Amino acid sequence: MIPLTILSSFYDKQTRMVQVSSQQIHQCQCEHCQGGSDPHEKQIHHQINVVMSRLDEQQRRWYAAVEANRHGHGGIKLVGQITGLAEKTIRQGQQELLLDLTERPEDRIRLPGAGRPRAEKKTRLLAKS
Ligand SMILES: [Zn+2]
Repeated sequence: MIPLTILSSFYDKQTRMVQVSSQQIHQCQCEHCQGGSDPHEKQIHHQINVVMSRLDEQQRRWYAAVEANRHGHGGIKLVGQITGLAEKTIRQGQQELLLDLTERPEDRIRLPGAGRPRAEKKTRLLAKS
C-alpha cells in the first residue's frame, strides 16, 4: 500500500514555479506625449523608457543625466517627466558624470532582479533529440 504523503510533495514543487513579471515600461508624462502634438518626439521618449527598463539603477541614473545635459535648460525637469526618475536622482547622475564616474566601481554591480544566466543550452539539447 502506498502512503498518501508522497502525493503532497509533488504539489509543493508545482506551486513554487512562480515567475517574476518583467519590468514595466514607464509612460512619458511630458506635454508632447500628453498632447500628442509631435509623434517623433513621442517615439523618442518611448524609446528612452524602453532602454531604461533594461538598465540597472545606476545606469538609469547616468543615462537620464546624459539626456538632461543634452537638453540644457529645463533638462532635469523634462527627463524627470519622461522617465519618472526623481530630479534629485538625475542631479546625482550629473554629479557622477562630471567626475567621469571615477567614484563609482568599474565592475558591474549585479542588483537584485538583474537576472541570472539563462538555461538556453539545456533547451537546445532537448530540442535536438
Ligand atoms: Zn514625452
